[in-house]
Amino acid sequence: MSADFANLRKDIEMLNDSDADWIHLDIMDGVFVPNISFGFPVIEAVAKYAQKPLDVHLMIVEPQKFVKEVKAAGAYMMSVHYEACTHLHRTVQQIKAEGMKAGVTLNPHTPVSLLEDIINDVDMVLLMSVNPGFAGQKFIENTYKKVLRLKEIVLRRKADCLIEVDGGVNYDTAKKLFDCGADVLVSGNFIFNSNDPKEVISRLKNG
Ligand code: ZN
Repeated sequence: MSADFANLRKDIEMLNDSDADWIHLDIMDGVFVPNISFGFPVIEAVAKYAQKPLDVHLMIVEPQKFVKEVKAAGAYMMSVHYEACTHLHRTVQQIKAEGMKAGVTLNPHTPVSLLEDIINDVDMVLLMSVNPGFAGQKFIENTYKKVLRLKEIVLRRKADCLIEVDGGVNYDTAKKLFDCGADVLVSGNFIFNSNDPKEVISRLKNG
């Protein structure tokens, strides 16, 4: 979402050459969130040049309708919003049946306690640390407590589940999030608006 859309290949090659582990793609439909980003042709275009797994975050209503399309476009991880899935367990099973990793995403107001009965079925929980819809938003401080509470659930339930945080990640918030128990951090504008994106990625990971 933060890359140069007129020069995507250049930014993908930068990421290939960086310490980044995954490439995160934000799909927005203008209904679940008040913005539209891009769809399957762009995921396919990224997949063509990416040498890292694609972490696809669907901020759309009825994501269960597009599981096969997301797989065909080249996704490694497909994350759907808790708030967008009436039959979340079924959707998670559909994602896994296609051979993808399944992630569940929570908006800032959705409590992590709601995940107690799905935590052993998902490969990742993605916590939104901003209200989804736009890049470059301010980090919501309550996220630290959510990571701590989620980590407690993951450990208590012995779940094989990563904790990912998306939004407002910079050097300061990254360190605190790792200390709270986050495993995967998504950073967009902080990397792409810098003069030396690869150096920023290295410092985020190793700093
Ligand atoms: Zn995202």
